[in-house]
Amino acid sequence: MPLYEYRCETCAHRFEVLQRLGDDAEGIACPRCGETRVARQLSTFAARGGASSGQSFAGADCGRPACGTGFT
Ligand SMILES: [Zn+2]
Repeated sequence: MPLYEYRCETCAHRFEVLQRLGDDAEGIACPRCGETRVARQLSTFAARGGASSGQSFAGADCGRPACGTGFT
């Protein structure tokens, strides 16, 4: 069952809901304020990890063993 991320239209609170594939936002309510006008956010996985993932991408780019010594 996929995990969907929603954002409340009223208080901007973000929360995750387990839903069956194809289900819409019907019946979903914000856990903080109870608002039912919530917007499904795209790409839950891309939102995770924060903005500081640039360094790990640069490290993964180089496959040579010598490159790893600078990161430890
Ligand atoms: Zn809310």
